[in-house]
Amino acid sequence: MAVGSPEALSDHTQVDYNIAVCTLASGSKGNATYISDGETSILIDAGLSGKEIQRRLTSQGLSAEQLNAIIVTHEHSDHIKGVGILSRRYKLPVYINQKTEKAAPELGKLHAVRPFECGKAFTVDKLAIHPFSISHDAHDPSGFTIGQNGTTIAIATDLGIATSMVREHLKHCALLIMEANHDPQMLQTGPYPWPLKQRIQSRVGHLSNADSKRLLQELQHENLRHVILAHLSEINNTPDKALAEVSQALTRCNAEVTVADQYSSGPVIYLK
Ligand SMILES: [Zn+2]
Ligand SMILES: [Zn+2]
Repeated sequence: MAVGSPEALSDHTQVDYNIAVCTLASGSKGNATYISDGETSILIDAGLSGKEIQRRLTSQGLSAEQLNAIIVTHEHSDHIKGVGILSRRYKLPVYINQKTEKAAPELGKLHAVRPFECGKAFTVDKLAIHPFSISHDAHDPSGFTIGQNGTTIAIATDLGIATSMVREHLKHCALLIMEANHDPQMLQTGPYPWPLKQRIQSRVGHLSNADSKRLLQELQHENLRHVILAHLSEINNTPDKALAEVSQALTRCNAEVTVADQYSSGPVIYLK
């Protein structure tokens, strides 16, 4: 069923859009992002239980029955927990690269597997998906740009450094979902054991608020409309700190900056 049906849209004012985005959950306890062009709706990751994903979709007037596919970034459980159950329950194909699938036996039997390769673009109906490699301690982790009718958005979380390839992909997007995982000082003085602190700060860990700010300083352009800070640590960061620091980056555009939450879905953002 298309999300663009009159019933589905009656609650929203913006009927005319290219891409709609809704972060259902973000953080180390689970990640999932809903993306739709009104005809085709996908999830990037499903790292909560199937039931909880359904609940969060419903809370925004969306429905799991409208979904057409799930795309997986990497095999860490905070990204795949609900993938298997949703795939089976709603007969959803799962786009996943081979190394990630191999590393995730807990997915169980999927309704259908559509392998992709990082670096090779593919489509889900009219959504143009471009997966790119990111630097993270998983087997073949990926970020994505998703484009439709001239509007492109990007999602890049779970990365220790933003390589030049990542920066290239994030350059011209109207909306960015980017990581602002930790405040380095909170991480240093916080309760995590030393090896974990090192892992988080490493090239295959997570971006700090300062990293995120530097990245955004470089990426900003006048058509950037929205930045969603994502995968914040509950222990080593606060939404206020992340917002205050990363927002400073924006000197050349009026993009709105918001924070994706772990425990509730964000609003649906419609992009023309
Ligand atoms: Zn993660
Ligand atoms: Zn991860």
